[in-house]
Amino acid sequence: MEGYFGKYGGMFIPETLVPAAKELAKAFAHCKKDKKFLTEFYGLLKNYAGRPTPLTYCPNLSKLLGCSLYLKREDLAHTGAHKINNALGQALLARNMGKTRVIAETGAGQHGVATATAAAKLGLECGVYMGTVDMERQKPNVLRMRLLGAKVIPVNSGTKTLKDAINEALRDWTATVETTHYLLGSALGPHPYPAMVAFFQSIIGKEARKQIVGAEGTLPDAIIACVGGGSNSIGIFKAFLNDNVRLIGVEAGGKGIKTHEHAARFADPRAGRPGIIHGAKTFVLQDDDGQIANTHSISAGLDYSAIGPEHAFLRETKRAEYSYCTDTDCLEAFQLLSRAEGIIPALESAHALGYLIQHKREFSKKVVIVNLSGRGDKDLGTVMKALHLRE
Ligand SMILES: *Cc1c(COP(=O)(O)O)cnc(C)c1O
Repeated sequence: MEGYFGKYGGMFIPETLVPAAKELAKAFAHCKKDKKFLTEFYGLLKNYAGRPTPLTYCPNLSKLLGCSLYLKREDLAHTGAHKINNALGQALLARNMGKTRVIAETGAGQHGVATATAAAKLGLECGVYMGTVDMERQKPNVLRMRLLGAKVIPVNSGTKTLKDAINEALRDWTATVETTHYLLGSALGPHPYPAMVAFFQSIIGKEARKQIVGAEGTLPDAIIACVGGGSNSIGIFKAFLNDNVRLIGVEAGGKGIKTHEHAARFADPRAGRPGIIHGAKTFVLQDDDGQIANTHSISAGLDYSAIGPEHAFLRETKRAEYSYCTDTDCLEAFQLLSRAEGIIPALESAHALGYLIQHKREFSKKVVIVNLSGRGDKDLGTVMKALHLRE
């Protein structure tokens, strides 16, 4: 069925939004095969976002871990993470559809910054919904969005964080669909978003595949990526789905699975069950009554109660494996990569590396790619606090 990955996905949205989602699905189906659209998209990725990003061999960490480790360097893309790939793709699609405005939701502000950047580049108006708690926590990103010409719209309802911002953005879209595109930030939400975001992010895997064959002469044994909503992971997995390559998604283990203070939708069978959230059927962390559970992670980008529906499908069909990395193991990986290779990773990305460190025996003598989804500049305050460092 269209818009489904096995029994996950779908389009669970209010009646008033169905025409907009269908119009979007149609426009996307056309553009992804349209030569002119693709030429413009790949041109932006190359000349504006700085692609292709390198695939960096890590000699020091390889020696330490006993494998051949490569990093796919999304931290070197414009704005410091993979999110710009999707923001540029959707902003371009919105402009092609004749829309003049984009709106987005943001938690940590990273997706808001990517959206504001793409909107500025393509001459679109931009509104970003953000919980007031998050605005206080992420002041530099609020300033960045404003400098880029976006309107940051404070959300005071509920817990004043990401899930409330999503509700407000959906409400705005209901009232403004004629002029406005909702630029969703991960491989989540109703059809066509999960497939569309995966398509715009699939550039990561396409490049990595060419680069690893160039460097090693063969495909890698394993690919490891962190999974929030699931966009950087699906973006690198896509190019290897039909190959004999282990695909490993790493969720936020927070303070440990048993504490229930985490965002590991697959690792906690009591709390992580199929449910419907923000437009799709997928795995959702919920309490015994089916209410959305609170989550915790040291990294804001992985701190969300649901995972993209295609990941639920890849797990069920056993094509991909999923595990987790705790806050503590993430911090260890963060410091190790900084010292051993001179690369300060985003805390999200450090989860993927943390998993490899904890399971290094399994990867002895193997060729491994870790998707380094972003850079760590945004996380310095969090890390200082967590490690009890002083300025
Ligand atoms: C937002 C973010 C993530 C998590 O989002 P996905 O959609 O799962 O990729 C991971 N890494 C970085 C650096 C991010 O900014």
